[in-house]
Amino acid sequence: MQTPGPILLLGAPGVGKGTQARRLMDAWHVPQISTGDILRDNVARGTELGVTAKALMDRGELVPDGLVNTMVAARLEEGDTHRGYIFDGYPRTLEQARWLDRHFAEAAERTLPLIAVTIRVSDASLLRRLTGRRTCPVCRQIYNIYTQPPTQDGICDVEGAALVQRDDDKEAIVIERMKAYEQLTAPVIEHYRAQQRYAEVDGEQDVDRVFADLVAELGRLRGPQ
Ligand code: AMP
Repeated sequence: MQTPGPILLLGAPGVGKGTQARRLMDAWHVPQISTGDILRDNVARGTELGVTAKALMDRGELVPDGLVNTMVAARLEEGDTHRGYIFDGYPRTLEQARWLDRHFAEAAERTLPLIAVTIRVSDASLLRRLTGRRTCPVCRQIYNIYTQPPTQDGICDVEGAALVQRDDDKEAIVIERMKAYEQLTAPVIEHYRAQQRYAEVDGEQDVDRVFADLVAELGRLRGPQ
């Protein structure tokens, strides 16, 4: 796609948004904007936002809308977003979705309309996916010890670095995150479903198949360029 424009990847934690967003980023050369990654970066750097966010993230709760929206507004100002970008893990509440609608209404002449795709996975698969997830701390490549293991146990195929498990991927926290998702984020999907530029893909398929479906749906939603 020549100009991907703004794209939302929606779906529960663990459906594969991060994996697919990274593939789209490589294919289309537009940035992935993961609010979770930006927050984790703030936590690592010990910023004021990071200190506030850490306690909530450790419990699997959401960071307040105002903080996240301000963070997103700042990210969208960066120069790499002009051809488009892929939101991953944002918006997570109706309030965030409404803020984004207002943001786009104001920027209407400067940007293509937003297109949104939900990746669907059954509840039964999610727990295994999240608790099995491991990430390379150097290149951010995502693995899964059950479904997509690295060649050598615990070691990144690309960087050779020791893979890490996110603290919030431990089972007790995963359950809290799923609850937050059901209560707060599931309505966001209904918000976008009611709009025109929306599609869903089956995330139970293998990663390449999900990617192919995603590219096809996004292309269809964006229309001829
Ligand atoms: P993720 O990496 O997207 O699963 O996000 C990890 C954690 O960061 C979440 O469990 C929340 O605590 C926080 N977080 C990420 N994105 C958002 C968001 N859009 N709104 C509120 N909290 C968020």
